Amino acid sequence: MKNLWNDATAEALVADYAKKGVDRDLALRVYTTRLLGGEPRLVLHGGGNTSVKSRVTDLVGDSWDVLCVKGSGWDMAVIEPQGLPAVKLGALLKARALDKLSDEDMVALQRANLIDPSSPNPSVETLLHAFLPHKFVDHTHSTAILAIVDQPDSEALSRKVFGPRMGFVPYIKPGFDLAKAAADIFDADPSVEGLILDKHGIFTFGDNARQAYDRMIHYVTVAEDYVARNGKAAAKPIELPKEVAGAADFASALRGAVAFDRGEGAFDRMVSDFRTSPAIVEFLSSPRLTELARTGVSTPDLSIRIKTGPMVLPAPDAAKLDAYPAEIRKHVAGFVAGYTSYFETNDKLDDVRRTMLDPMPRLTLVPGLGMFGHGRTLKDAKIASDVGEMWIEAVRGAEAVGTFQPLTHAELFGLEYWSLEQAKLASNKPKPLTGQVVLITGGAGAIGAATAKLFAANGAHVVVVDLDADKAAEVASKAGNDSIGVGCDITDPAALRTAFDRAVAVYGGLDILVSNAGAAWEGGIGEIDDALLRKSFELNFFAHQNAAQNAVRIFKQQGTGGVLLFNTSKQAVNPGPKFGAYGLPKAATLFLSRQYALEYGAIGVRSNAVNADRIRSGLLTDDMIASRSKARGLSEKDYMSGNLLGLEVTAEHVAQAFLHHALADRTTGDVTTVDGGNIAAVLR
Ligand SMILES: [Zn+2]
Repeated sequence: MKNLWNDATAEALVADYAKKGVDRDLALRVYTTRLLGGEPRLVLHGGGNTSVKSRVTDLVGDSWDVLCVKGSGWDMAVIEPQGLPAVKLGALLKARALDKLSDEDMVALQRANLIDPSSPNPSVETLLHAFLPHKFVDHTHSTAILAIVDQPDSEALSRKVFGPRMGFVPYIKPGFDLAKAAADIFDADPSVEGLILDKHGIFTFGDNARQAYDRMIHYVTVAEDYVARNGKAAAKPIELPKEVAGAADFASALRGAVAFDRGEGAFDRMVSDFRTSPAIVEFLSSPRLTELARTGVSTPDLSIRIKTGPMVLPAPDAAKLDAYPAEIRKHVAGFVAGYTSYFETNDKLDDVRRTMLDPMPRLTLVPGLGMFGHGRTLKDAKIASDVGEMWIEAVRGAEAVGTFQPLTHAELFGLEYWSLEQAKLASNKPKPLTGQVVLITGGAGAIGAATAKLFAANGAHVVVVDLDADKAAEVASKAGNDSIGVGCDITDPAALRTAFDRAVAVYGGLDILVSNAGAAWEGGIGEIDDALLRKSFELNFFAHQNAAQNAVRIFKQQGTGGVLLFNTSKQAVNPGPKFGAYGLPKAATLFLSRQYALEYGAIGVRSNAVNADRIRSGLLTDDMIASRSKARGLSEKDYMSGNLLGLEVTAEHVAQAFLHHALADRTTGDVTTVDGGNIAAVLR
């Protein structure tokens, strides 16, 4: 592993932080923490931790020896000084004399001794850092180190590979007991430069930031070299079908299968992140893949991300694709049964009452193809994929030099269902549309953009579809929540299909369609050009129908219901003079909404329409408002609020109606009016 220490960069950072009142110790601690955190082969997403022993002065001028240690919730790659809260060292050191300290008391002790009470919780490995006498202590879950310690004979192998300068600590769950055991092992031979933690990772330490970092890189490189030199060739790969199906062929079926069914038509949905590379595909062709996946995770904190390990599917045969969704469901059921039994078996062992987490897999391996990370958000799904890549790397190394044997499921249970972790999860309240994917046509218009913003704020990932690709991307970026923009002419069925394909490629599927795009053409119905009327039907009817067909195709693959929402118009029920070309297809679309409600209610698809009028938008521009209000002898304000309530109706009000229908889970075949009240357009 390359040593990235650079004197000039380190000194520049020290100088920069000095201006902000951060001392040299802490600045260098930030520097090497970022170096370690930026390498996924060392730490992933919140894993690993570092510390520095220093001295600070509190608000009343008292000076304290402190341990600045990584705070929970901080990612090492982007750490800042406030991510390394200072804890009074004296109190931590006193704790070593205790025989026992519960996790809750340990957290209380650490929090009670923070210099700044608003700091995040110091790492669960704080005491281990405190009990070691060195100024700088670094800890990672290096994949190369895991290849050596996830072995049946890990202690003998570690001593052989790393020599006498590294201590060896048997597996103990992180916390007080591990800290004491590690400190005792260090005291027995204080000449060591670090500690190898069985089935877990590595600590290195030093008098300065560079020494601790150099040692980390050195011992990781020793492990890498050992694996490279002593690795045996991989076993003969499994035979794959003649033609392996693509991810898009079954991604939606998989996404539906891993949605957690809460009954009564409600699902906790996840999004999927597909990832592949030649190295991933090569590993997935191992004849031992299923066995390796069942064996477990390479280091215990991965269980927070991918539970007991990945789910493995058979290679998808392009010639037998029809049978594959059933195969997926069978494997998910198998995973759920295995996870449930793991929970029940281990939960019974003591009298602590725990609630089982949802038993769905978070990582799916597909031989011949790649893997899918699953998560309630795209960010979580991508983290699961990142974890998958590093799991593969550690397992590949372990299998090359021996036999992958990580922590047992029984020991893993203690970590996955650790009270501290469970408390963290309980505070993670999902939003109403968390895990759901919505596609909005006409997404860059006023109503589309307001809807994208509102749905994203309620947890959905949004696919903003618009004729104007740049505007679509801009709306998506403003809506946030990892939403995407897609430029497409929705009256072209092939182009429309690619927009839905993008939803599947990026998120794994779709749950809600807001079929919103429309445009108005004027002309007396007795004289209007046929071509113009047909053009209006293409956009104001057929594009809605084609979009709904695409959505229903995906909904059927997922098997988790779905929502169709159509933007009809006041014209659909209350025609205006010269607006026939607009009103006729809109009336057909209103009926279309009811037809979908009728035909797909049985598979949980709800279909509703929103009937809006007089909204400031691309269909009713400021210029049009000026000329129409003038023609009627009204002020613009009176024209825009010419309804029963006497209030202007905005795009945001229409977005609210779409959101209402996305959440009203017993409403289908309905039309909601958003026009401030127009008695002539009231539906009977
Ligand atoms: Zn650790």
